[in-house]
Amino acid sequence: MQSARLTSRLVQLGGFLNELQTQYHRRNLLDSDPLEYVYHYSNPWDQEVVALVAALLAYGNVKQVRKSVSDVLARIGRVAESPSEMIRNLQGLGGRKSPYSKQVSREFETFVHRFNRGPDFVVLFHLISESWIRSGSVGGHFLQNLEPEGNISEALSLLIADWRSWVKDMGPKSAAKSFQYLLTSPADGSSCKRWCMLLRWMGRKDELDPGLWCQGSGLSGTFPDGRSLRASQLILPLDTHTGRISQYLGLTQRKTLDWKAALEITQNLSVCDPQDPTRYDFSLSRLGILDVCKRKYRVEICTHCQLLTHCKFALKSHQKSKKKKTK
Ligand code: SF4
Repeated sequence: MQSARLTSRLVQLGGFLNELQTQYHRRNLLDSDPLEYVYHYSNPWDQEVVALVAALLAYGNVKQVRKSVSDVLARIGRVAESPSEMIRNLQGLGGRKSPYSKQVSREFETFVHRFNRGPDFVVLFHLISESWIRSGSVGGHFLQNLEPEGNISEALSLLIADWRSWVKDMGPKSAAKSFQYLLTSPADGSSCKRWCMLLRWMGRKDELDPGLWCQGSGLSGTFPDGRSLRASQLILPLDTHTGRISQYLGLTQRKTLDWKAALEITQNLSVCDPQDPTRYDFSLSRLGILDVCKRKYRVEICTHCQLLTHCKFALKSHQKSKKKKTK
């Protein structure tokens, strides 16, 4: 239960976050994000595949991430007319040993992105393909377990559990340690930043987020019992940037940026906007990605930052430097 003082502080913070959003939540900043690649395609099945690839590659330096997404899409382009055609041609788990699967494997043999290798992505493509066969789309698979009133936690854990068990059935080579890095789960306590980011893209619809798993999207015919993902069910994608700034703003007391911290921050952001707490994610992460916030108090930057009056870090650093000067 939040104290009235905390609630009133968060409501105030919401006003400043809205200003931050006005500055950074913009389509013209998509060139600093892997989400941009989703808009290179208009077919929703292509977009679902590209969103999964782009989100799961989103770790490390953003320039390298974008380069790797572009590389994966170029390789897909050499084996199929479109990402969705490749996924259909793979024919789920049953097509693992088909000549087409071997062709895709050869194409991806030399791909590397930090901890992940090409074969990890071939396994991922087969999982997507199997979900399409069983549920019509990965969104359809995910939504089977989404409680209408709950957050994404359980449905995400169950999707990952299904995929982990399918990978086990595919044999030990498929379940390589590097592949496991793609399948993080709330059940393990991980913040699941890349999955939460994917879900933000899927569960929000505005000038930035495509809302592919929202009501009325091009994939909605595959969703069970008319279900869909709502913005109020999302959890903030917690990475080094959003985590650090959330700590500066007192949105979490936790030092470890894990699933519990992501839940705590999202719950606090819900006071600012109960229907759409993750709408601040893109703006908060731009402060770090665009190197605006320097991890130190810089008068020329911090005095123009919308978050200054709530930034404990800047206020503390400012007081320290003032003390030093007066000594
Ligand atoms: S006030 Fe300064 S330190 Fe705090 S979030 Fe803004 S730029 Fe970063």
